[in-house]
Amino acid sequence: MQIAVDGPAASGKSSVAAEVAKKLGYLYFDTGIMYRAATLAAIQSGIDLADEAACTQLAEKINIEVGPASIDDGRQADVVLDGQDVTWQIRQAKVDAGVSQISAYAKVRELMVAQQRRIGEKGNIIMAGRDIGTVVLPNAPIKIYLTASVEARAQRRHYEALKRGQNSHYEDVLAAMRQRDHTDSSRATSPLRPADDAIIINTTHLQQPQAIAKMYGIIASYIAE
Ligand code: C5P
Repeated sequence: MQIAVDGPAASGKSSVAAEVAKKLGYLYFDTGIMYRAATLAAIQSGIDLADEAACTQLAEKINIEVGPASIDDGRQADVVLDGQDVTWQIRQAKVDAGVSQISAYAKVRELMVAQQRRIGEKGNIIMAGRDIGTVVLPNAPIKIYLTASVEARAQRRHYEALKRGQNSHYEDVLAAMRQRDHTDSSRATSPLRPADDAIIINTTHLQQPQAIAKMYGIIASYIAE
C-alpha cells in the first residue's frame, strides 16, 4: 500500500500524515528532507544556489540517510548528510529560503525521485511532498492533497518557531511562505499541484486531531473496501 500526500508548506503534511502513519503502522517518509539536505550541502560548500550545474554535481555526490529518531528532542527522524546529523540544521530559515531554488533543477529532482521510488517500493508507506501523487508514485491507490490558507500556514510556522525559542516575525514568515508557494507552484519541472485523482483536505479551520481523523478515515475506508 502506497499513500501519496502532497501540499504546500505547513499544510499539515508532516504533523498529520506522520500521526496517521503511526496509527496504521506504516512508514512515514517526508521527501522535503532530501531537498533540504541538498540545499544545506550547497550552502555549506559555499556554492551559489543559482549555479544549476554546480548544485546538480553536488547533489550527485552527497549521501542523505533518513532513519528512525535516535534522540528524543522532538524530531520525527534522524537526517544524516555525509555522516553529519543535520536534522535541525535543515530547518533553518536560510534553508527555507534556498530550497525552492534547488528543487526546481530538473536533474536534482531526477536524482531525488529515483531514490524516493526505491523507498516507496517497500510499500506500507505514506510519502509526503509536492509531486508524490503526480510524479513519484503516480499509481498510488490513495492520493491526498492537504491545503490551507497561506495565512493559517504562516501562523503555524510562526508559532512553531516561537515555541522553539527562535526569534520570529509573522509578516516575514508570511512573505517567505508566499514566495516559496509561488516558486514551488510555478516551476517547469513537477510543479506543486494536486493529482487529478487526489482527495483534497483543507486544514485551514481544522485542529490537528480533526485533520488526523479525516485523513485516517479516508485511508481506513479505502483499506476496508
Ligand atoms: O515539505 P518541505 O516544506 O520540507 O519541503 C521543502 C521544499 O522542498 C519545498 O518548498 C519544495 O521546494 C521542495 N520539495 C519538492 N518536492 C517534494 C518535496 C519538497 O520540490 N516532493
